[in-house]
Amino acid sequence: MAFNLAMYPVSYVAQFNPAAGTWDEQWFQADSITLAELSAMDDAKRAEVYAQRNRFPLPLVNYTTQYALGCFEGMKAYPHKDGSLSIFRPDRNAKRFYDSMKGLYAPPFPEDLYLKASVEFLKRNRELGYVPAYDPAWEKDNFAGASAVYVRPFMYSEGAIGIGSSKAPYVIICGTTVSSYFKGANSKAVITDRIRATPKGTGWIKCASNYVVSSLAKKEAEEAGFMEVIFLDATDRKYIEEGSSCNIFFRLKSGELVTPALGDTILPGITRSSAIDIARGEGVKVTERKISIQEVAKKCVECFVTGTAAGVTPIESVTWKGKEYVFNGRKPGELGAKIQAILKGTQYGSVEDSRGWNLTV
Ligand SMILES: *Cc1c(COP(=O)(O)O)cnc(C)c1O
Repeated sequence: MAFNLAMYPVSYVAQFNPAAGTWDEQWFQADSITLAELSAMDDAKRAEVYAQRNRFPLPLVNYTTQYALGCFEGMKAYPHKDGSLSIFRPDRNAKRFYDSMKGLYAPPFPEDLYLKASVEFLKRNRELGYVPAYDPAWEKDNFAGASAVYVRPFMYSEGAIGIGSSKAPYVIICGTTVSSYFKGANSKAVITDRIRATPKGTGWIKCASNYVVSSLAKKEAEEAGFMEVIFLDATDRKYIEEGSSCNIFFRLKSGELVTPALGDTILPGITRSSAIDIARGEGVKVTERKISIQEVAKKCVECFVTGTAAGVTPIESVTWKGKEYVFNGRKPGELGAKIQAILKGTQYGSVEDSRGWNLTV
């Protein structure tokens, strides 16, 4: 798994002060061990350093640990050839984090604080050598194996036991280096009977509780030999919604690129929105609408999923009720590859950032 917990030494911790109406901010620096020093350690010592960085005195019993009232973000910062580092569309993450906290009836974290803290977080860890250096070899496969910094902001409740909503939440930002997310022998997806999100529920915000069903369904899919799981809508049980942690696109025989329209059961992915813009920029007709599994079975010629962790990942087939529907002879489709090349190129700075999506740290 690409997501190990090789935590960076510096984390950001803020807490809302309800009496003052302000956020108390602090930096938590577990140690000053540089990446070079860490790499020279033996495995057991290094593991202890990483574990120590993940220890911070926070209340054990609270709305997050007891009732899953927590939310998070996932952003990446990308090293460029010229030595600079940029975060991809962090203003969108800041807005979504604000919406998620509001959606949980917690005092939302201001977007300007989010952006300032994210940039400062990267600067402080970069000083200790924790940002991967740009490697020209990454260009050979369009950055498929490239490294990036994964930034994980999250909300964590103050101590509490009775059912309620957080009034003095913590916001923490931590990070680690990641490479590609999906690893495995195949890129098959399977439709699950489980329901990820229901109308009037929380599917539209990035909250912890959404991941319970997702994790179970993903585990079942993996045990059955699939890479990813796809959810159908809760009401009609036939419209495609999304993957376990990624949005989904279908290219039809007609040339149209379809992705399920957003509502209160689909997570508004920033990669999704970027892929739509890129495809439209390439002259592709993109439609956000309902698409049934029956229509996919009949008309789809290419499928891919999108997310910060997944990038643009091709799906070779979808299995539904025991029957496998194969796309493009199991080969990655051309459109997904083109979108991926433009997206990754923009993120790593090899393609001009014509839409102003990168924020330089
Ligand atoms: C985070 C997430 C995505 C992808 O969103 P990005 O902003 O593109 O990373 C898609 N679906 C779910 C359920 C998610 O939690």
